[in-house]
Amino acid sequence: MPHSVHTRSDTVQPRPAAAASRGRWTYRLGRWLGIDVYVHATFLALLAFFGLRAGLSGGAGAGLEQVAWMVALFGSVVLHEYGHALAARSFGIGTQDITLYPIGGVARLNAMPRSPGAELIVAAAGPLVNMALAFVFALGHTLSADAGQGAFNAAGELAWPLQFAVMNLGLGIFNLVPAFPMDGGRILRALLATLGNRVRATVWAARVGRVLALGFVVAGLFGNPMLMLLGAFVWFGAGAEAGAAVREEQLLGASVQQAMSRRFLTLSPWTQLGELAQRELDMTLLEDGVFPVESGGAVVGIVTAEALRDGLHDLGPKGYVADVMTRDILCVRPSDELSGTLRALHGRTLAAAPVVMAGRLVGMLTPRGVAAFMGGPQLRHA
Ligand SMILES: [Zn+2]
Repeated sequence: MPHSVHTRSDTVQPRPAAAASRGRWTYRLGRWLGIDVYVHATFLALLAFFGLRAGLSGGAGAGLEQVAWMVALFGSVVLHEYGHALAARSFGIGTQDITLYPIGGVARLNAMPRSPGAELIVAAAGPLVNMALAFVFALGHTLSADAGQGAFNAAGELAWPLQFAVMNLGLGIFNLVPAFPMDGGRILRALLATLGNRVRATVWAARVGRVLALGFVVAGLFGNPMLMLLGAFVWFGAGAEAGAAVREEQLLGASVQQAMSRRFLTLSPWTQLGELAQRELDMTLLEDGVFPVESGGAVVGIVTAEALRDGLHDLGPKGYVADVMTRDILCVRPSDELSGTLRALHGRTLAAAPVVMAGRLVGMLTPRGVAAFMGGPQLRHA
């Protein structure tokens, strides 16, 4: 079961609604230890399909048994995700939710710990849960079995506690394959990062991951096609994570001044929307532009090109900028630390901030400016 520990890196985008980022077609199973667990509809469909198929060929009992084993497998995956989530919690990192997809589980952590030791513990906690389950069930069977009763039942099948143990052992070992961004790859990254450079550690872990991803695809061609899917997952995941790590490192130590746009168009609250439309503002600037609104030498709000367009549509040309602007703003200084500023904006779901020095507007911190500073389009994580 491949799965990933997702982290958020969309620092400037307003926080999307939880349901939107998790995707539609997910249903809440429940909430345990303060974490919501969801299941994707395709998984339920898969459960019904395999249950029916087994039921049609082997009778109702076989169908139920098939469903029970799939539920046991995914229960093990959920416990695995809880391993990550609870380990992260011990480092003060929260988890948004856990979602079960047919391809595996995803625990969406708010962040990954930056210290290699902590990352290693969080990454290893998932597979360790499966190893522990395997050990407990194997031991339980051994202790409870009557004298003379071996590992196999009368029908020559492995006893169910041992089957469950083997399944969890497989899950644990499989996730330890060092294919970043799978758990084993994160452990590899953490180990490499103890040598000092987190970005280089990530790049190397991603390279190892991509070599293994190619191996999965080739193995998938001759064997289980699921391996090809896993190969694609690892290939793209490795690239995205390596890019995110490089950008994160760029953000550290940077100041607002380095990412702010110095060219911006200042609007007055009393400008009519029709007038703006007539001035034929540069459409590329309008594409995702955010404008400061000034009155009497003070910044009184910001307004996005989108809000201006919507305002023109709803209020007509006689509407004012004041009617559509956002008054809840966060003014920042050029010397402010960039990553902390972006976090603060994110926390208040603000898209941009006016940059003010000595009472004077000197720049705008916008998503586009930040993306340009970080070299390329912004990575948006689910
Ligand atoms: Zn895991």
